[in-house]
Order: sequence, then structure tokens, then C-alpha cells
Amino acid sequence: MTLETSTVVPDLSGLHLGAGEAAGDRITGVRTSLAFLPLGNPISDAKVFTGRQKPLTEIAFVFAEITTESGLSGLGWAYSKRAGGPGMYAHAREVAPGLLGEDPSDISRLWTKLVWAGASVGRSGLATQAIAAFDVALWDLKGRRAGLPLAKLIGVHRDTVAAYNTSGGFLSMPIEAVVENAQRSVANGIGGIKLKVGQPDRKADLARVAAVREAVGDEFTLMVDANQQWNRQDGLRMGRALEPFGLEWIEEPLDAYDAQGHAQLAAALDTPIATGEMLTSVAEHAELLRLRSVDYLQPDAPRVGGITPFLKLLALAEHAGVSLAPHFAMEIHVHLSAAYPHTAWVEHFEWLEPLWNERLELRDGRMVVPARPGLGLSLSDQARAWTVETTTAGTLSVN
Ligand SMILES: [Mg+2]
Repeated sequence: MTLETSTVVPDLSGLHLGAGEAAGDRITGVRTSLAFLPLGNPISDAKVFTGRQKPLTEIAFVFAEITTESGLSGLGWAYSKRAGGPGMYAHAREVAPGLLGEDPSDISRLWTKLVWAGASVGRSGLATQAIAAFDVALWDLKGRRAGLPLAKLIGVHRDTVAAYNTSGGFLSMPIEAVVENAQRSVANGIGGIKLKVGQPDRKADLARVAAVREAVGDEFTLMVDANQQWNRQDGLRMGRALEPFGLEWIEEPLDAYDAQGHAQLAAALDTPIATGEMLTSVAEHAELLRLRSVDYLQPDAPRVGGITPFLKLLALAEHAGVSLAPHFAMEIHVHLSAAYPHTAWVEHFEWLEPLWNERLELRDGRMVVPARPGLGLSLSDQARAWTVETTTAGTLSVN
């Protein structure tokens, strides 16, 4: 597939009006901020145990707040775990003035404009992740203008989405704590539990899965996530060893860019294969679908450049007939998963809650799509307090 090329070369024929004239509204202000959310305890997945990364202690956020002539506003964000946040912020604030005077409803055109502004540093990775903050803000704004939650603006297939918990199953916790967290999550009404695996000690991985499976019972939905730490041989061996546990999926068994290896595993195992969270463009995800590498596609809207490219992926994934389990960012993905016709799971993380004034509701193992317009989020005073730098282009008409 050559989607990447076909979606970003703009056809400017017919663009006679000055930007914004058609709808009578214009972007008048763009505030871009860099904030760091501290985590209570350092978090480790398999990449720490194999020495590739340090424990995660904070998450960097690039917030975008966009206001218009008619007094509407939108809030969007991108994020980085470990390095990259300040670079993303630097790129975002450099391209932000390109939005001034534009019609905020023409989101796809504005996405393309911002990509071309920074095309010299690429159409994936940090450059497009920086743009995601603006794209999400524009979708939020469009939902607020329509008086509809983002999910309804797109059109839903369900009002609630099956939700699983990840934050209780990290490798930085001893097995007893993981079992206790799983039991607490089940009691609190979560729909599934994901455990981290991928340690150099394969037997320790299997022991954790066995202990949690015994604690939650055979029928409860369990997934595992190896965070790319197996090679193809280990992936097959571990995949076979995990088959008796009846897992919903095995996530990132192999390197994120080994689409062919994932395809071989998906063909060899009964347990579904999930991957995609590390990919940062539609084209990379399209390759997973083309090679039949996944049973569950795991795109991350802020990582692929925002909601605009994510919607392109939803169409491709639907056509390929795969299930959907977006990575992280439940505040955005609950809306996008509700709009997906096939099976969809959303990942429940409590980590980001201090950033918002609102809370997402869990009911009967599922996350309820918020009824508030747009994303249904506003930044908390705490998020403002964690903000270390802000740049404003134009004039921001509201706070
Ligand atoms: Mg993962």
C-alpha cells in the first residue's frame, strides 16, 4: 500500500478562498505547553529487565489549546515516555503559527499543512507526534462546536467499550502484588487484566501468568505483553507455552518492526497476536495488515499523528477484519474504539487522571463513552502546575 504518499500530497485546486472564509470561523490563538507528569513509583516492563531502558518515572506531555474567533476552544495532547518530550514541544511550537487564520473545521487539510511545514524531519516519529496535539485539539473543538462527544461526531457502534487494566501487572511489582492488584481490579469491575512478561527468566514469566490465572479463574480475560523482548524462536516457544492459559492476546512478542515475524507467529499460534503501539505512521500499520501480522491492531492516536491518521487506520483495520486494542491514552481511545465495528478493547490506566478535571467511568467491565462534547476533558490546576514552558501564537481568547 502507498497510503502515506497519497494522503499527504495536497491537491490545492479549488482553494480560492482565504483560509477560514467558508465556515466563518478562524483560529485566533494556539497555546502549546510542555508538562511533566510524575509517576508515584518507577515503572518497569521487560525493556528495563533486559537493560534497554531505565524505569519510567515521568511522562512528558505537549498540550495544545486552540481558540477561535467565535469563542470556541479545543484541547489536544501528545506524550512521550522517557526521552523526546522537549523535542516534540520544540517542533510543535515552531509549526503552531501555521494554524492562525485557518478554518478549524478543515482538519485533514491542516494536518497536511503542518506535516509539510516540518517535512524535512519526516512524516512519522517525533515530527508527526508533535502535530498530533493540534489534530486532537481540532477534533475536540469540532465536537464542541457540534455539541457532540467525539465518538458521536464520528458515529458509534457501542456506548461502552470493554476495558482491561495494565497498571497492576508491571514487572517492577512482585508476583504477590500483581495477584493482589488483579483481584482488586476484578472486584472493582474491570473487564480484563494484562500482565507484563518478556523477562530474561522465561520460567518467571510463566509463573506470574499461572498465579494470576489461578487467582482470577479460567473464564476471566487475561492478556500478556512482552514489550518486544523475544526473538522469533523465543516468541514461538513462549507462545506455545502460553497457549494453555487461554489468553485474549500476546502483545508485542517481537521487535515492533518485525512485521513478518509477527505474521509467522500469528499463523502458528491459536492465541491472537497484538502489536502496533510503537509505530508512528499509517504506512507502518498498513504493513502489519498487509502481511496479516496481527489479530489485534494496537494503534496509538498521539503516536500516529492524531485522530485524523487514526481514522484512516480504522478503515483499513475494519477492511482487514482485525480486532482493535489501542495503546494507552484511554481518554482519546474510548471514543475511537466505540466507533470501530469489530471487537475493541480499551486500555485502562489511572496514571493520567491528575491531568484532568473529569473522570472516565467503568461499568460492568466496560468504559463508558463520556457524554460531554468533544473529548470531554479539561486541564486540571495540577496539570498547569506541572507545566514547565508555554508558547502562545496569536491571541488566546479563553483560558
Ligand atoms: Mg504494550
